Amino acid sequence: MKTVLVAGLLAASALTGVTAALSQSTTAAPVAAQPATAEPAAKAGPTFGAFGFDEQGMDRTVAPGDDFYAYANGGWAKTTPIPADKSNYGSFNLLSDLSESRTRGILDTAAKDPQSKIGRAYATFLDTGTIEAKGLAPIRPWLGRIAALKDRAGYPALLAEADRVGIGGPFGSGVGQDDKSPEQYALSLGQSGLGMPDRDYYLSTDAKLVEARAAYQAHIAKMLTLAGEPDAQARAAALLAFETEIARVSWTRVDSRDATKTYNKMTVADLAAKAPGFDFAGYFKGIGTPVPTVIVAQPSAITGIAKLVASAPIGVLKDQLILRSLDNYADVLPKAFDAEQFAFYGTVLGGTPEQEARWKRGVQFTSGALDDEVSKIYVAKYFPPETKAAADSLVRNVIAAMDARIEKLDWMAPETKVKAHAKLAAFTPKIGYPSRWKDYSSLTITAGDAFGNAWRANEWQHRDNVAKLGKPLQRWEWGMTPMTVNAYANFGMVEIVFPAAILQPPFFDPKADPAVNYGGIGAVIGHELSHHFDDQGSKYDSKGQLTDWWTPQDVARFTALTGKLGAQYDAYEPLPGLHVKGQLTMGENIADLAGLTVAHDAYMTSLGGRTPPAIGGFSADQRFYLGWAQVWRRNYREANLRQRLLTDPHSPSQQRAAVVRNLDPWYAAYQPKPGQKLYLTPDQRVRIW
Ligand SMILES: [Zn+2]
Repeated sequence: MKTVLVAGLLAASALTGVTAALSQSTTAAPVAAQPATAEPAAKAGPTFGAFGFDEQGMDRTVAPGDDFYAYANGGWAKTTPIPADKSNYGSFNLLSDLSESRTRGILDTAAKDPQSKIGRAYATFLDTGTIEAKGLAPIRPWLGRIAALKDRAGYPALLAEADRVGIGGPFGSGVGQDDKSPEQYALSLGQSGLGMPDRDYYLSTDAKLVEARAAYQAHIAKMLTLAGEPDAQARAAALLAFETEIARVSWTRVDSRDATKTYNKMTVADLAAKAPGFDFAGYFKGIGTPVPTVIVAQPSAITGIAKLVASAPIGVLKDQLILRSLDNYADVLPKAFDAEQFAFYGTVLGGTPEQEARWKRGVQFTSGALDDEVSKIYVAKYFPPETKAAADSLVRNVIAAMDARIEKLDWMAPETKVKAHAKLAAFTPKIGYPSRWKDYSSLTITAGDAFGNAWRANEWQHRDNVAKLGKPLQRWEWGMTPMTVNAYANFGMVEIVFPAAILQPPFFDPKADPAVNYGGIGAVIGHELSHHFDDQGSKYDSKGQLTDWWTPQDVARFTALTGKLGAQYDAYEPLPGLHVKGQLTMGENIADLAGLTVAHDAYMTSLGGRTPPAIGGFSADQRFYLGWAQVWRRNYREANLRQRLLTDPHSPSQQRAAVVRNLDPWYAAYQPKPGQKLYLTPDQRVRIW
């Protein structure tokens, strides 16, 4: 997968926005004042409302044809505050809070056993007294290595060392599936080097982003000062200037999500000739991948960055490594570093007033460092086999609905349809948790050494990644933990993946009305499935190979349809002057449109011609679309919404809910009127799959 190295987001096509945070603790994350063992109260009926949908949370003063999101969720939105330690809050957080409190229970128990590695990792992370007492001593040897760098020739090897422990610099690299030889792994190289979320933060004249830049410079100066470095102000200005130059040569996110443009396989010798100024061969050797070929994601950016690295003062290159080391390890350094890291990444960029409780971050750290060791206990305790069986059957129904859709398409050539059917038949759904677990026995977790534990865990992850080169594909591997409330599509593997934690209400509730479940988890399944047929996923064939398998006419007709959808999203303006980026969010919008379409088909098939009775005054179709709107409930802080509009390939929730305006059954169900805001004439509605 090409995205592995670009943004740290494993799948370009994950269901919801994981903002591409640079440092460990800036991702959106959870609260809950409940005790560790809290579970939802036992209830005979569905978790939400009388039939699986929270009718109390509606705003019936809004016409569904004007704003379907507000009609379904407006009451909830008005009465639900965003917890102080969150940048946004909605259905996803509700479940991630639950996952975290459950995982906390597992780790609290484990922490009582000195033999338990996860218990030791968790307890040591929580022991801030010891972290404080050690001061900067644990990171001093590494900072000393940076300080000792005297000439440019030693920089590639030092950068490689930084990469091995998750620190990073101007380039990003990693091992992933080769898009054009999907049975093999390959080394990839991509642009990196920005401490803020996107090039726009460096280059835009938008007042809020100009403010963020000033705050970033102050943040750099503060971190250097805390580490006892002299001349912090001037050095911060120089580092910001260097990264601004990197931003200038960096590709946009729109170009970086293009599977065709970002596949540039070349020899390392060729790369050296095209991008002089940096010893790539030495760097690749340093990260443990001394191979002759590499796939370069953004060639012109790599050339530009190599040139900048060659001409930057060596002190600037060193300061960038110092800053990243302090930011990325802030949560296992003294509190002053941790607080400053949060003040910038959490509060300035995310709008979040308060940092999360230490235990939540301990849960996140341990679940990340020893992923499968925590996961296997979690699924045994919280993922009933019946849920897996029920989800399996839903997935089969949605795949069948997609298959029937493909047959009926009027824009796709018959010979392409044959290949599209073959692709669907090749699908691997993964549900709940992996079929095998990773072995962490080679990872040393030492009591009282929080910094060392984090360092070694990063090293372990790096080694695990680069060891794949030359080996057979690990088809069993997952890119998310079972505790994650999300889902993803992996194009090269031709798979769709649904972690255990998303298979719960409000997404999926065995006690809820099937209409709500099909509109919720059914559409989520359809969404992931449809990614394989979105503007990028559709470039991969039934074997997961990036190749031209469509006729030129198919491509032309498909592009015309997606262009129409892009224009629809470009018109949305969630913040004054800041529109949804139709091209950046294209894949997700196609997946929402197609996913909801096939989920509705699958629901109709499941009824076998019956018309279910109304419940609570809602017809079955009305309930189906309410189920969809409910999963997208989310309140945002303004800074978080701005960051998402600039960086997230997903549209904001209100616009995701509004995709219904393209669907004929929604018009039949809600009877919106011409002139209402969401109303589209039949020829304006976009129908792709
Ligand atoms: Zn998606």
